[in-house]
Amino acid sequence: MALLNSDTQLNQNSYYEASVSRPPAQPALSESLSVDVLVVGAGFAGLSAAIEFARRGYSVVVLEADRICSGASGRNGGQVIVGYASGQEVFEQQLGPDLARQAWDMSLDAVRLVDERVRDFGIDCDLVKGYLHVADCPRKARALEEDAATMAKNYGFASEVAAGADVQRFIQSPRYAACAFESVSGHVHPLKYGLGLAQAAQSLGVRICEHSAVLRLRRGKTLTAQTAQGSVTARFGVLAGNYALPEFGPQVAPELSARMMPVGTYIIGTAPLGAELCRQLIPSDAAVCDNNFILDYYRFSADHRMLFGGRVSYTTRTPANLKETMTQRLGQIFPQLKNASIEYVWGGFVDISMNRAPDFGRLGDNLYYLQGFSGHGVALTGLAGQLVAQTVAGQAESFDVFAKLRHLPFPGGPLLRTPSLVLGTLYHRLRNAF
Ligand SMILES: Cc1cc2nc3c(=O)[nH]c(=O)nc-3n(C[C@H](O)[C@H](O)[C@H](O)COP(=O)(O)OP(=O)(O)OC[C@H]3O[C@@H](n4cnc5c(N)ncnc54)[C@H](O)[C@@H]3O)c2cc1C
Repeated sequence: MALLNSDTQLNQNSYYEASVSRPPAQPALSESLSVDVLVVGAGFAGLSAAIEFARRGYSVVVLEADRICSGASGRNGGQVIVGYASGQEVFEQQLGPDLARQAWDMSLDAVRLVDERVRDFGIDCDLVKGYLHVADCPRKARALEEDAATMAKNYGFASEVAAGADVQRFIQSPRYAACAFESVSGHVHPLKYGLGLAQAAQSLGVRICEHSAVLRLRRGKTLTAQTAQGSVTARFGVLAGNYALPEFGPQVAPELSARMMPVGTYIIGTAPLGAELCRQLIPSDAAVCDNNFILDYYRFSADHRMLFGGRVSYTTRTPANLKETMTQRLGQIFPQLKNASIEYVWGGFVDISMNRAPDFGRLGDNLYYLQGFSGHGVALTGLAGQLVAQTVAGQAESFDVFAKLRHLPFPGGPLLRTPSLVLGTLYHRLRNAF
């Protein structure tokens, strides 16, 4: 329960929640239903799956423990990013060049799918194109340039690279030694996007029940999910509960929890800065992310606030003096903002898999799971939902690219995974220092 308590608290002062007006709560499940597909979790992954199943004519119920997109999907940096947190190496080494290429192409499809849904469902979510990868020391600059060159050579993915004083054309910050700009990725207001997906799903006939945690799941030829006041029986199930699944229902799929680790990450939101200052600082209005192991990721909102993300917690405890330390960090990147007024501070947990590649698969014949997006879930969740519906409808090949990846449990299981990841982080911090 400790994780859920701190998770709820982390969402109390979110810019996203403050800048939308949520529709009235969807009634909790209070009866017994029988449908084709049960989806657990109304984040991006669950909603995407629901849309895709409904489009194919399946009847769908989504059970959500809290509110629609109250988890990571409604709190994140909004960066719609091509590729995977693991990089392409995990795919190349484990699956070979052809499947690695297929995985890369699918990540491009994932970004395209966000664009299509925004357009097709008319979702007003402040979508902006442009992504700037930045490096803050010579060693990281070399890595960024090499990475950009490899992606251009092996995958035909071009970005515009700048180094030294030229970086100022892309971002007015003294901090960076190099940057790479591309216009495929971008950013959205994630909660507006998620609420738009929910509305789209409902328009296709999907029933979404909020405040309806799945406490138990009976598996077999059919699946039966129990909530506090009702039950759903279904031919197929999709578990899209992310880090909270084992918290609400420890017996729903206990075999999955050791394969994922919740890592806290945080965002501060300034008061509006004005359009002119934003244009000076990042002329393209791109989302920005550095290539350190512990990332700074940031962007401007449509109303010209800086939404600045970073810091991590591997213990699930919120770091002390979060607002102060993040404001200081922001001031080091943009001295112009060192005295900016901070109006929002919030955070959530990222679903990290051991190798940082998505962890999709099937339990038995009819229960699918989608997890381990490792900080790249804004775009990849959409693809995940599409793949699972395609798979059930009989087109298994794309899904199998991910199902073939080896996913190891964190050493020591749920109890010990935190210390071992902390050690890993210390190692990367030390490397970053040289
Ligand atoms: C602060 C932050 C910044 C991030 N920034 C980015 C970014 O810029 N770009 C990017 O690509 N990714 C980012 N991410 C990651 C991204 O948000 C996630 O990968 C993505 O939202 C995961 O979506 P999901 O649907 O799998 O999970 P969630 O959105 O967490 O949804 C899971 C839902 O399942 C529900 N649930 C769980 N268990 C049960 C149960 N037993 N019964 C019923 N319901 C249940 C939960 O209440 C929750 O609503 C960030 C994450 C955080 C926290």
